[in-house]
Amino acid sequence: MNILLATDIVVDICASRPEVGAQAARALRLAGALGHRVWLYVGAVPVLEAALVEALKSQGVAASDSAIRSRARVLLKDFVRDKQWLAALAGEGDVFDADDLGAAQLVAAVARFAGDDILLLTHDEGLLARQDPRIQTPADYAARFSSATPPAVGAFIDLKAQQDHLRPAIERSIHTVLHHGQYVLGPEVVALEARLADYVGVEHCVAAASGTDTLLIALMALGVGPGDEVVTTPFTFIATGEMIAFLGAKPVFVDIDPKTYNLDPAQVEAAITPRTRAIMPVSLYGQCPEMDAINAIAARHGLPVVEDAAQSFGATYRGRRSGGLSTIGSTSFFPAKPLGGYGEGGALFTDDAELAKALREIRVHGQDRRYHHARIGLNGRLDTLQAAILLAKLDHFDWEVERRAEIGARYTAWLNERCPDILTPHVEPHATSVFAQYTVQVTDRDRIAKALGEAGIPTAIHYPIPLHGQPAFAPYGYRQGDFPVAEAAAQRVMSLPMHPDLPEQDQRRIVDALCAAVSG
Ligand SMILES: *Cc1c(COP(=O)(O)O)cnc(C)c1O
Repeated sequence: MNILLATDIVVDICASRPEVGAQAARALRLAGALGHRVWLYVGAVPVLEAALVEALKSQGVAASDSAIRSRARVLLKDFVRDKQWLAALAGEGDVFDADDLGAAQLVAAVARFAGDDILLLTHDEGLLARQDPRIQTPADYAARFSSATPPAVGAFIDLKAQQDHLRPAIERSIHTVLHHGQYVLGPEVVALEARLADYVGVEHCVAAASGTDTLLIALMALGVGPGDEVVTTPFTFIATGEMIAFLGAKPVFVDIDPKTYNLDPAQVEAAITPRTRAIMPVSLYGQCPEMDAINAIAARHGLPVVEDAAQSFGATYRGRRSGGLSTIGSTSFFPAKPLGGYGEGGALFTDDAELAKALREIRVHGQDRRYHHARIGLNGRLDTLQAAILLAKLDHFDWEVERRAEIGARYTAWLNERCPDILTPHVEPHATSVFAQYTVQVTDRDRIAKALGEAGIPTAIHYPIPLHGQPAFAPYGYRQGDFPVAEAAAQRVMSLPMHPDLPEQDQRRIVDALCAAVSG
């Protein structure tokens, strides 16, 4: 729920007006307890100051005008600290037909929120006279929610909490693009590619439209086509095997290491045939596979390696970053990934200049110069708007990677101590995980997931059916039993809420509920 405070409420609280001030403060405490997000309208700042100065004067404060104004500013500064600023949009400027301009702006701002997910709190009679159920007094709000219970845990992945840290930077980035108007491959895409290449530690980064397109573009650049084979894992998101098949090649699955859920290097060599054109390991759940071993096998056979790093952006392997560990690295900026945008996006990484050129050309219809097409490609460009959002998010990313490691380690420590029957993720000593998913193994998963759901704790299964069991891959003739480790994991894995803003007390509730469900 979103709570927008009208000017009069802010003044009531800041000026400690008797009765109404206390009522409003109570409503805000309730909002805090329930996890409701409290907003102030940016366009109201000068009005707020003026109204608060008036209120202080009318209380008979004996001080100079400038002293009262400084007092008002100190009060406001303190008040806004834990609130969110709601930007004023262009459509909220032309309100000159209204009687009360400030009220009309707030009503227009309320209309931006979905349905009844917003309440505008006020005592203003003009606003309340509109009889809009989304406009209420603090006392109405308190009465309506006083017996509400806060959710045990917020979202499975809380992107709103993340946005609270980043709102000014993200809004500024988006507006910059709206003003320069280079919506396709604009300056933000170029800047993002440079930042990402630097972060991953490679020479070249090519941003693309999704983490599926990046896999496709990588395989096309390596010349994978009909009749070819690509060695990969069956325990992954569909896109990995799907893009191999999409090009007419055969996904040759190899079972996983039971500890890390990643491609088992010991089984890779046996899967290589004269038709093999590439090896495509996946860094599942946020941890890289044994890339040294996989690269060594690939080198012996003269094969390129494409790391599907869609879940592991920010992770390290022997001190180097995921994405920069093989011939080509591929990642995704889908919102739920460790570095998520607000839509689709992805990026490719390589140190090979020839390959980088091919990746760039394939991304734009195989074009090597304007309207000259050297090869077959596609339209796989990243939007400038996405790049602008990702640039803003990158500034906060190191903090997020640290929080992810911390939260993952805390889950593991608590679960190992309290319910040893649950298999927690194994992170290799020479690796770090960004915990795109925090995934455990449990027996009787359906019952446990149901119990957690009833306790208000969302869970997910990554992934319930290995790729070789998917109907879409039936033509390749794999059978149940071909990859027993992946099949067993698919029956038992369950992912817990995981995001950098997960509060410690939520984590405690999750662990309590999970341990209770397992022993119950
Ligand atoms: C998410 C994901 C992809 C696909 O990325 P999109 O950006 O959603 O297309 C590919 N591989 C893996 C392992 C993924 O998790």
